[in-house]
Amino acid sequence: MTESLFAEASQRLDAALHHISISEDAIERLKFPKSSLQVSIPVRMDNGSLQVFQGYRVRYDDTRGPTKGGIRYHPSVTLDEVKSLAFWMTFKCAALDLPFGGAKGGITIDPKQLSKLELERLSRSYINEIADFIGPDVDIPAPDVQTNSMIMGWMADRYNTIHRKIVPAAITGKPLTMVGSLGRDTATGMGTFFAIETLMPKFQTVRENTTVAVQGFGNVGVVIADLLWQAGYRVVAVSDSQGGIYAKGGLDIPSVKQFKHSTRNLKAAYCEGTVCNILEYETITNEELLTLDVDILVPAAMENQITEKNANAVRAKYIFEAANGPITAAADAILEANGIHVFPDILINAGGVTVSYFEWVQNRSGLYWTVEEVNDRLKQKMVKETERIWEIAQQKSISMRTAAYVHALDRIGEAIDAKGTRDFYTS
Ligand code: NAD
Repeated sequence: MTESLFAEASQRLDAALHHISISEDAIERLKFPKSSLQVSIPVRMDNGSLQVFQGYRVRYDDTRGPTKGGIRYHPSVTLDEVKSLAFWMTFKCAALDLPFGGAKGGITIDPKQLSKLELERLSRSYINEIADFIGPDVDIPAPDVQTNSMIMGWMADRYNTIHRKIVPAAITGKPLTMVGSLGRDTATGMGTFFAIETLMPKFQTVRENTTVAVQGFGNVGVVIADLLWQAGYRVVAVSDSQGGIYAKGGLDIPSVKQFKHSTRNLKAAYCEGTVCNILEYETITNEELLTLDVDILVPAAMENQITEKNANAVRAKYIFEAANGPITAAADAILEANGIHVFPDILINAGGVTVSYFEWVQNRSGLYWTVEEVNDRLKQKMVKETERIWEIAQQKSISMRTAAYVHALDRIGEAIDAKGTRDFYTS
């Protein structure tokens, strides 16, 4: 990557600033993260040796409330990446009108190289190092790439031990038995699904004739593929880090899911009970998946997947960014020039943080909701903010990405100004 991811992320803000009047003070505030923490995490390995890993937590802006954002475990995690993700979280929370600012955390590690016990020690040790930086009224972590409810459970337990009390709202995405929320595990994918269902009718499409390719078959991608399949869309291709599968007539997603779950492999299968038969399909590379001739492309893996190198080859008509930052700013311009509709990450994958917010609310009130209540509230939020961003895009003749930033900036700018602006002090 030649340009820093954070410099990339900031370009989206610059584009939005042309379409909104916001105080100079607010612009100045949003140029820098509020605070960044880098920690060394000592872990006793199974062979008795001690290894020290690098971890980060960045709180970007807390004007609208305590900061909120996931923790990722990945070999490519850097401070620059965590800062960019924290920046995106700030705009995502504002776009969805959640009473939070943005944060993110991460550890530079390939978790697949660790035993389960080493992973637990790493997760608890990370909390030892950042415990003073987080808290239910300060900064609330959640899962992200290669972290899950089990890891959040270890982290919440360690946080409680350090503070000598149970603090349920300190971390979200916890297991249900540790006062997590129903519906959190499917929230991001379901939020994407609600956004797709809100936006596609505007293009007069018919579900049964709409083909879909999903890149990434993890927490988020599986749920999206499954919900779209259930709704009648033709999901023709999915992929994971090993590569992808394509079947022109459509994949049977529940079977693909079951097969992947039991064998860790992606194959076009049809399963009855525990018996799966392999159907006809083609194997494709991840690069090929991104350029398939489909209606909808859903990147749900990692950032920087569509760049200026492959943007011209993309043939999908609509791209829904379920992953964070899958399209670079340079690629964005190419896609727009080619008439491809891009629906941005800060809206499309906001279902996860929305239900994390619901978990925080339930933890603080002590009153727990049914999964129907959670999903219903998620739907209301996603549909309302998607419609509003669509309206802004139409009114101002701007892309959905710029409209989402304009919408979020409006709220953040107002909150920053409420604390006093230059005009306020000089007039
Ligand atoms: P995950 O680790 O569960 O799944 C990632 C999937 O992507 C895996 O199937 C992996 O094999 C695959 N993958 C990795 N590199 C790939 C590549 N080059 N090509 C194709 N597939 C590849 O992670 P996740 O939680 O599903 O997160 C996916 C994306 O969604 C990330 O960008 C994350 O930041 C974003 N996101 C996640 C949540 C959440 O609630 N989990 C919320 C908001 C945004």
